[in-house]
Amino acid sequence: MNFGVLLAGIALCLAQVSAPSWKSFTPVLWGPVVGSFAVWAIHRYPLHRRIKPFGMAYKRHTLEHHKFFSHRITTWESSDDWFLVFFPFFTIPLYWLAGAPVMFALGWLTAGLNAGWVAAAMGAVWFVAYEVVHFCSHLPADHAVHRIGFMAALREHHRLHHDPKLMKDHNFNVVWPLADRVMGTRVQKRP
Ligand SMILES: [Zn+2]
Ligand SMILES: [Zn+2]
Repeated sequence: MNFGVLLAGIALCLAQVSAPSWKSFTPVLWGPVVGSFAVWAIHRYPLHRRIKPFGMAYKRHTLEHHKFFSHRITTWESSDDWFLVFFPFFTIPLYWLAGAPVMFALGWLTAGLNAGWVAAAMGAVWFVAYEVVHFCSHLPADHAVHRIGFMAALREHHRLHHDPKLMKDHNFNVVWPLADRVMGTRVQKRP
């Protein structure tokens, strides 16, 4: 369901693109940079600090997701636990109402209307990538998916974030730890 709404939205946005030029696709280049910093900021603040009116996000993430998974126990046991891995459904309309217009505006202002639609789609692509990589990061370390080089490194990056001593200040990125590197919040081992 979550993925269906995201993918349908991506398709709808891309369907608005007409007679594109190479400039229309420039959001594909900067979208991941915006995505990395957006995830860093959202994860660091409303998800790990009690900020009104986002108390529910803090409860769902810090008090439930992090309580269930620690750096020692990172793996879900059955599909019943998946609701603790994926974002709740309401976050998807929230992206389309709050995140997509920002992405659209960035694309439109930098490279025209087509780029606006591509940028809004890119944000949703980043959301899907986050959910997929996060899900894989909560698979066992010896799972086949972690033989893909960077996947094991991303899993370790996220596993360290689940250490209760590190979770509030380190390793907020999931798909691309660019913002953690730039902001000095990346750790590669327990202190
Ligand atoms: Zn996690
Ligand atoms: Zn977290």
